[in-house]
Amino acid sequence: MKKLALIVEDESSLLTLLRYNLESEGFEVIEAINGEEALILINERLPDIIILDWMLPNLSGIEVCRRVRRNDLARNVPIIMLTARSEENDRIRGLDYGADDYVVKPFSTNELLARIRAVLRRLRPAFSENTLKFSDIEMDLVAHRVMRNGVHIRLGPTEFRLLRHFMEHPKRVFTREQLLDQVWGHEVFIESRTVDVHIRRLRKSLNKAGEKDIIRTVRSAGYSMDNKK
Ligand code: CA
Repeated sequence: MKKLALIVEDESSLLTLLRYNLESEGFEVIEAINGEEALILINERLPDIIILDWMLPNLSGIEVCRRVRRNDLARNVPIIMLTARSEENDRIRGLDYGADDYVVKPFSTNELLARIRAVLRRLRPAFSENTLKFSDIEMDLVAHRVMRNGVHIRLGPTEFRLLRHFMEHPKRVFTREQLLDQVWGHEVFIESRTVDVHIRRLRKSLNKAGEKDIIRTVRSAGYSMDNKK
């Protein structure tokens, strides 16, 4: 699955340049030219990283950042801010409002890409490794093998993708619609109830030996993978 990057930038030439470079780097890219649009896009489909310009019309980048951090579904998405301001105070303010890093304009795209890689490595190690680990579960993405507590677990292809999605985004809550979109992709005519069916199968396989259930049902929201109950 490609990583999804959201670029929020009102300068169209920079937007085009960033899109080109991120796509070359293997990202799927969505873009917004202002903060309001960005917040709508984020609610439709959760990005894996947000590249956010500070100086935007109406809602500032800082305000967008603050709202993303207050949004239950999006609060953990890494954010890199683009800022033309060089004053130290402003940068610190950006980090205070929840940005994970910032790049000062003008920057080279190589510099930005390096920052993106670094932030993803730090916050989403899942993206750079062949093995995912969470609690006592280990997923070998190359051999397509799942182990729990050293015991091999057999999963169907959908359950495998579902588990992978949770393990790539531990502790994040996904609605059924988001899971359909992000795990099933764009297959249409699937009811959100289907998600419940596959979650049930996944739980059954993972908890065969009476292990602790790490798939959390979040009332009226959806599901997440969490080891504290
Ligand atoms: Ca701008």
